[in-house]
Amino acid sequence: MRKDYLLAPGPTPVPSRVLLAMAQPVIHHRTPQFSKVFEEAATLLKHVFQTEEDVLILASSGTGAMESAVTNLFSPGDEVVVVNSGKFGERWGQIAESYGLKVHWINVEWGRAVDPAVVKEVMDNNPDTKGILCQASETSTTVQHPVRELAQLTKDHDAIIVVDGITAVGVMDIPMDEWGIDVLVSGSQKAFMLPPGLAFIALSKKAWEFAERAGCPRYYFDLKKERKNLAKQTTAYTPAVSLITGLREALLMIKEEGLENVFKRHEVLARAARQSMKALGLKLLAPESPSLAATGVYLPEEVDGAKFVKYLRDTMGVTVAGGQDKLKGKIFRIAHLGYIDTFDMITAVSAVEMGLSLFGYNVDMGRGVAEAERILLERYKKP
Ligand SMILES: *Cc1c(COP(=O)(O)O)cnc(C)c1O
Repeated sequence: MRKDYLLAPGPTPVPSRVLLAMAQPVIHHRTPQFSKVFEEAATLLKHVFQTEEDVLILASSGTGAMESAVTNLFSPGDEVVVVNSGKFGERWGQIAESYGLKVHWINVEWGRAVDPAVVKEVMDNNPDTKGILCQASETSTTVQHPVRELAQLTKDHDAIIVVDGITAVGVMDIPMDEWGIDVLVSGSQKAFMLPPGLAFIALSKKAWEFAERAGCPRYYFDLKKERKNLAKQTTAYTPAVSLITGLREALLMIKEEGLENVFKRHEVLARAARQSMKALGLKLLAPESPSLAATGVYLPEEVDGAKFVKYLRDTMGVTVAGGQDKLKGKIFRIAHLGYIDTFDMITAVSAVEMGLSLFGYNVDMGRGVAEAERILLERYKKP
């Protein structure tokens, strides 16, 4: 017998409350019953996105919402700046190039955050730039980017900032309206504690103006059409009825916990992950600007990373993520977003310690767990 724990940065664990909500018989989507669920979910979403604007719900993975941002806001030939600091930054650029946009790539060393001064320089050198495409949290390198500063760069320009907040919304404080973020994207299988299959996107007033003149081809992902339907408590095409029923439940859980507490929980979990790994003598992938969603850790030279991650998953039952591309076999990533609590972190740290020991690394067993416990104690008051 082996009990499984899911500690990867998507999909993330789904609470039983949400699973039960989704287990209800499927209802027809063009009914007042479904409209009520949909309307409630859409309203609760605005609270998590910290926006007064509509948050559109799409039936797709997160990448669908990213693609919809490109096709609904820009035209072929438009110039955009892409912050490429990992797999998902690269994806922004690839989507943009697929639709004939001209991409000014800003390549950032993996594990580091982008310097807003560099983005500003590229914007200044290319005054026709129509947008900055970036991540708030680059999951592949576990880096957090200075989105608030980046948003300032488009403020007085004919340009918008488009943020992939897929592992940031519901994790860290990223107030869309207050920071002047024009487009914010997220997905169900990350902090929203749902299975994969839904993507969310919100546009500022300025972004909706861009949507009026955008000339990229599109059909399924037509945000203006979705907005019109949202006003009638429905969707353009058949919505993912069960997932939206689960979404409402998950959003109620977030509301009950309180957004501030959700952010605080992620902050403590992330700090516990970082400090415990450091206590074991391991090097962090993103020590300077770490994401609150996941922590990337370099493995000791002597440990084969691919085998390590596989062993933890298949033998010990603990799923952490490995590295992608050039980080393959070199790192592992512990996720701490969504339905993750104190004892999930203890499990993750303990599995890393035991795994390293089994792989022949001279690890001081219990040291990481002790450090994690010390930090996680902050979450509780003396009884
Ligand atoms: C998970 C993720 C995505 C989207 O991936 P999908 O597989 O399309 O859901 C995009 N950006 C970031 C930063 C992510 O973590």
